Amino acid sequence: MRVEERLGLRRLAGWGRRRVYIVEEPLPLMGVIQFGVIDRGTNVLQVRPTTVCPLSCVFCSVDAGPGSRWRQAEYIVEPRWLAQWVEEAAREKGVSVEALIDGVGDPFSYPWLPRLVRLLKETGVVASVAAETHGGTLTRELVDRLEEAGLDRVNLSIESLDPEKARRLAGAPWYDVERVRKVAEYIARETSIDLHVTPVWLPGVNDKDIVEIIEWAYRIGAGKRWPPVTVQKYIAHRHGRRPPGVREPSWDEYWEWIRELEKRTGRRLTWSMEEWGMRYAPRVRQPLRRGQVAKLQVVGPGWLRGEQLAATLDRRRLVTLVGARGLEPGDLVLARITRDRDGIFIARVA
Ligand code: SF4
Repeated sequence: MRVEERLGLRRLAGWGRRRVYIVEEPLPLMGVIQFGVIDRGTNVLQVRPTTVCPLSCVFCSVDAGPGSRWRQAEYIVEPRWLAQWVEEAAREKGVSVEALIDGVGDPFSYPWLPRLVRLLKETGVVASVAAETHGGTLTRELVDRLEEAGLDRVNLSIESLDPEKARRLAGAPWYDVERVRKVAEYIARETSIDLHVTPVWLPGVNDKDIVEIIEWAYRIGAGKRWPPVTVQKYIAHRHGRRPPGVREPSWDEYWEWIRELEKRTGRRLTWSMEEWGMRYAPRVRQPLRRGQVAKLQVVGPGWLRGEQLAATLDRRRLVTLVGARGLEPGDLVLARITRDRDGIFIARVA
């Protein structure tokens, strides 16, 4: 058995030049951004089962999909192990949580999504489960299985209802927004699952499309239990993709535009935390602090080039190691924690 496999990273066949891993026990599932569980101090836990995405959206902030330039590895987490970490985190927080299945990939490409939803509901500490998607792999059959498993809400990102433009923005010639639209209408009208529509505003590219999407979302009955639409701000990240000619709006410009949209459409687009059922909640205790030097064990490659995954020796947390060369899975290193916000840790070899 390879060392990385013993530590919880089982290697599958590659995807282009990227390695693909199944993540399983005993690898910890808190501490990194790309998979596992993230607690940001509210009753919502982010649950990240996969980094894989079939699309290559031209504005993707996390450089996902076949068109990725920065990634060196993709991960798919074993569902029972993931549900166990969600349950432990919720119990430690002492509240019942919403599990928001999101990530740096598209959760609907996760092969065990219905199983994960069912396992989360069975924990008894997960009050609702929502999952995000751009709809590339959305089908009625999958929706039926998710409804049966207990999924409560789909957050659907859709940037244009025009087929040609939608294909261009998704960076995938096969992307069929007509099919996505039909399945979304099926969700809103014929299932118990709520639909929340979340287009990304790309100034100068899809201004008119956003107005159409807002009208469409309201018309089909999105927002049965939660708000129907939120327009997302485009944010240019260092390792994300930037569509040519699109400038990232400032927050002031963004809020001004949202207010104008609300006036123009007569539809509400901003919602309070209460309307989302969101509230502040105790955080899971974090065993590492910025500035501290910790002894870590290298586990395998990180998701971006130049990064490695490492774990604390008690197997409670993962850490992203940067600036480390020539290290092999199993090696022990001393590293200084340089970032600890929201329990996501980055460290440099000391
Ligand atoms: S924006 Fe979402 S759907 Fe598009 S490539 Fe990125 S992760 Fe995939």
